[in-house]
Amino acid sequence: MQHLDGNALAGPLAEFFAFDVTMAVAKCEGCGSIAELARAMVYPSGAGTVVRCGSCGRVLMTLVESEDRAWIRFTGMGAIEVRRGAPVVPEG
Ligand SMILES: [Zn+2]
Repeated sequence: MQHLDGNALAGPLAEFFAFDVTMAVAKCEGCGSIAELARAMVYPSGAGTVVRCGSCGRVLMTLVESEDRAWIRFTGMGAIEVRRGAPVVPEG
């Protein structure tokens, strides 16, 4: 099967990351809760930031920043849903 190199992601990912991430909806792989990231519990610290599910406390993502780099790891969530052109309405 033919494939493109990663440069083909520039267009689709530029659109995907050009949104208010707090309004994106994610499913917790621990409890199945589906909610906007704005509802998550955020624990900032000197070593980085840990984002936990607002329902069960499972780690959803970690963010680590240095002066010239940043790392984001999605550990406990499924796909992130971004609704185009309409406000996100929480399910449930
Ligand atoms: Zn959860």
